[in-house]
Amino acid sequence: MDEKCLALDLGGTKLLIGIVERAGRIVFSRRYDSPLAGGQSQREIAEYMLACLDDFMPAAPMEGVTCLGAGVVGRVDGENGLWLEIEPGRCETVGLARMLSEKAGLPAYIDNVVRCALRAERVLGAGRDLDDFIYMNIGTGIAAAFVTGGKVIKGHSFNAGEVGHVAVDVFGDVECPCGRRGCAEAIASGSGLDRRARTLRARYPDTRLCFPADRRISAKDITDLAEQGDALCVKLKYDAAEAAAALIMNLVWVTDPETVVLGGGVVSDERMFGDIVSRLNPGSMRFAAGGVRLSGLDPELTGLIGAAMCGFQLP
Ligand SMILES: [Zn+2]
Repeated sequence: MDEKCLALDLGGTKLLIGIVERAGRIVFSRRYDSPLAGGQSQREIAEYMLACLDDFMPAAPMEGVTCLGAGVVGRVDGENGLWLEIEPGRCETVGLARMLSEKAGLPAYIDNVVRCALRAERVLGAGRDLDDFIYMNIGTGIAAAFVTGGKVIKGHSFNAGEVGHVAVDVFGDVECPCGRRGCAEAIASGSGLDRRARTLRARYPDTRLCFPADRRISAKDITDLAEQGDALCVKLKYDAAEAAAALIMNLVWVTDPETVVLGGGVVSDERMFGDIVSRLNPGSMRFAAGGVRLSGLDPELTGLIGAAMCGFQLP
């Protein structure tokens, strides 16, 4: 029987818990609400994860499960099993790996969600056999993980890869919640597209875009209307593709990767992906022989599979 991992993927929209084989096959999973938007502390969220395990484990096929892996947002010290910070201002270090280990009775390992997704790409996806590549997720936010010379860059404070706040339009007027102007995340991410659409709405009274009060405007809605010539959506999509392409090229100049792998809900739309790739300058990309590739993994499941690879301590 293939060795299995009890995996948890805590993102902004869901907490997914599953049993995942070493080969990446998910044999059982359950989805729970994400508590991240509720303003709770790390300790409260960790307790919530334990409560969800109490629901999950009696129902799950636990036979053959030898380890636990979890991916969480924010800064994570994987070696010491510490969850250091959710976001600036929400930092109350918790020993999450120990808490999960005691609950499940398994050795437990944790990491940041994007580095978990990087693992999934390295073991099973477009990053296989590559010693120099960048994985970038463009979804609700933007973040990247880097493999260079076969090593994953973590940073002095475990904060490497927060590339959404690399500015790509320093002379523009797009304000980012981080306090800077022109951050890629404020222009090209799902949350940035939503915020920008609402900011620009008054200038485009004829737009057919809907502005729901209770949820985010989806990147797909914007892309659909852009194709029909809606001027607001054309601008939003054009600027998002320009910003994402600029960010990719900036990162390529820094780490000189062989390949850039893109994942996440916003770029998993082939139309947006194609727009981004068409804006890459061949000179900037000349050594990236593997090009810019779309992840072949399901964006809904990459995090869970990556959390399992973390549990298996791969790679
Ligand atoms: Zn920013």
